[in-house]
Amino acid sequence: MNSRYEDLRERMIALHLLPRGITNKRIIEAFRKVPREVFVPDYLKHSAYEDSALPIGHGQTISQPYIVARMLQLLDPQEGDTVLEIGTGSGYQTALLAELSSTVVTIERLKPLLDSAKRTLESLGYKNIVYVHGDGTLGYKPLMPYDRIIVSAGAPHIPQTLVDQLKTGGVLVAPVGSRYMQVLTRVEKKKDGVYIEEDEGCVFVPLIGKKGWETNGA
Ligand code: SAM
Repeated sequence: MNSRYEDLRERMIALHLLPRGITNKRIIEAFRKVPREVFVPDYLKHSAYEDSALPIGHGQTISQPYIVARMLQLLDPQEGDTVLEIGTGSGYQTALLAELSSTVVTIERLKPLLDSAKRTLESLGYKNIVYVHGDGTLGYKPLMPYDRIIVSAGAPHIPQTLVDQLKTGGVLVAPVGSRYMQVLTRVEKKKDGVYIEEDEGCVFVPLIGKKGWETNGA
């Protein structure tokens, strides 16, 4: 028998993902598996399957499910891939990536968020995640090069450090723009150069670091 949350999860997929062009079967299957309710604070569990970003403390948010799905569809991670994720936040997208690839290296600058995400992800049984505390705009050299890189905070530009850590044939997806509004941007690194495509508009908290914004602007 389905739990109440499983029903709500199916409803979110039917109302907010499928009709808006999220057609990648592996991605839909991952959304079906990962329980978003365990990544949000207790007082917001009743809103876990609304299509909205929600506060997770420290001025940060768990991203809107549709935007996470859109980014994952642009990223198109494959089973054997090593994926670098910048901005662990709650760990929800990390879990989706762990379902879709073989290894996820996730970096978060706020230690309490990284620790809490790690506890949640370990309690769900994920063993293919490497947790890194630090400035993700610098990437993570020990496990480079990456098949895929996903940036989950708004960047003023694509950090060259990250493009350098991407394999040839690899894809990077990031929200790029001002502090308050960005465009989902897909970068493909090919033998003959880097190809950039813009997708839809979005709003993310700022990417703060040496190759991002200097402060959170508060
Ligand atoms: N995808 C996450 C989820 O599913 O919960 C939400 C990510 S939240 C929108 C953005 C996160 O990026 C925040 O937790 C923030 O602390 C983090 N962040 C911002 N700048 C960063 C940086 N330079 N390196 C690592 N993490 C960073």
